[in-house]
Amino acid sequence: MSTIAKKICLVGDFSVGKTSLIRRFVDRQFSDQYLSTVGVKISKKLIELEGIKDTEKLKMQLLIWDLEGHTKFKGIVPTHLQGASGAIIVGDVTRLDTIARLPEHLKTFLTINPKGFVIFALNKSDLISEEKLAKISQIEEFDRVIATYSTSAKTGAFVDEIFEKLASKIIQPE
Ligand code: GDP
Ligand code: MG
Repeated sequence: MSTIAKKICLVGDFSVGKTSLIRRFVDRQFSDQYLSTVGVKISKKLIELEGIKDTEKLKMQLLIWDLEGHTKFKGIVPTHLQGASGAIIVGDVTRLDTIARLPEHLKTFLTINPKGFVIFALNKSDLISEEKLAKISQIEEFDRVIATYSTSAKTGAFVDEIFEKLASKIIQPE
């Protein structure tokens, strides 16, 4: 059985939930305590993808890069994005400015990795009503963005989906 390792990055404004989404996916945990990420942290998770090519399961080692929270004054360090096959670009549905900046983060990522795939995660969906969420999630389509999900690192909603969908697309771009 073959194992392939691929790098993906979590990108987005400060405090949108990048670290929490990784913790939920990798450690199955959530904490309300705020610990800002300093520098870069790399988490590994072995996932199994089904139904690819033959019936054999394929194992994939995801190297998940958690990049330090960004502010207006402190951008993403471009070298941290190098060599990534994909990105999950995260916004916080309770702070619309962080949603408005998704295209900016997308541009930064694609400048470094033009062949990369991207998923938009509209995070903290547990904090607003269904109606509001429906409005916010009507986001225009962008090249290389394969899907947009409303996620919650708190409840776990659509957390596995964002990572698994991105991983499958990286393995099988068609
Ligand atoms: P980062 O700076 O993007 O890595 O953000 P963090 O993962 O550190 O999260 C920032 C804050 O938002 C923390 O207090 C988290 O507990 C909280 N948080 C993250 N995701 C969610 C979520 O889906 N729902 C709720 N209610 N809070 C969240
Ligand atoms: Mg963080």
